[in-house]
Amino acid sequence: MEIYFLGTAGGTPSPDRSLPCTVLRMGGRTLLLDCGEGSQRQLMISPVSLMSVDVILLSHLHGDHIFGIPGMLQTMNLFSRSHPLSIMGPRGTIYVMGLLMETVGNDLGYSVNVEELCHGDEREVLGLRLEAVETEHNVPSLGYVVREPPRPGKFHPERAKELGIPAGPLYSRLQKGEAIEIEGRVIKPGDVMGPLRRGRSLSYSGDTLPSDSFAHASRGVDLMIHEATFGDDMAEHAAISFHSTARQAAEVAKKADAATLIMIHISQRVVSDLDLEDEARAVLGNVPAVVARDFDSFRLLAKD
Ligand SMILES: [Zn+2]
Ligand SMILES: [Zn+2]
Repeated sequence: MEIYFLGTAGGTPSPDRSLPCTVLRMGGRTLLLDCGEGSQRQLMISPVSLMSVDVILLSHLHGDHIFGIPGMLQTMNLFSRSHPLSIMGPRGTIYVMGLLMETVGNDLGYSVNVEELCHGDEREVLGLRLEAVETEHNVPSLGYVVREPPRPGKFHPERAKELGIPAGPLYSRLQKGEAIEIEGRVIKPGDVMGPLRRGRSLSYSGDTLPSDSFAHASRGVDLMIHEATFGDDMAEHAAISFHSTARQAAEVAKKADAATLIMIHISQRVVSDLDLEDEARAVLGNVPAVVARDFDSFRLLAKD
């Protein structure tokens, strides 16, 4: 499971930061979290293929998060895409996507399936369980929590040997969770496998004030990606504009007991990333907290 930060600015792009676009890669498939202007070019520079994008999740419908969509749809068409694309977002997504699609024309060679999600809705995407969570912005907005299903336990070949199971196809049947029979004895997967292993997980806040519902839904995630538009010096402005400061992002991560915090959606008015990191680390102590830069990537490794 790999995450690429292709756009880490908030509001307007800067020479160093493109508008919001975060990529989740899993099993050769690609999910975009928001699609700000310039996202297709960021993808082309990154190792991720534009054509591999299967799903776009929109946190909300502010321009800085969606203006990359029409250009991307058009390029996919020019590249002869034929497989469908799924776009999901909060209330209003179907209307706004209708407007954006008009600018692209209605003769796309592939279908675009648009769906609106509400708080608590769950879907399966890229083989992962996706949950939509209502957040607190000045328009309808969602955060997302993605959890991998539990993985089978570790296979112990020495136990299988002791039980007289010959190496080969019977091993893989047990690893797939099937019971097998040898000379009248039934052997269950649990006889040769360890306990189920917890899947990987991450959450994505979108634009929001610090949100209890997002913290609650993110309980125990391996990685929280949270907006941190401003630092402490602009806390008042953050509140007025329905955004979070780095310190508030860290407080949400702490409440959720997230293992790592990565901050994005950085305002042009932030002078130093280091200040934001210091403010977040003052809350989180030893829990890693960093500000992402464009083209940073993060690999979530499966745990034993
Ligand atoms: Zn924004
Ligand atoms: Zn916004």
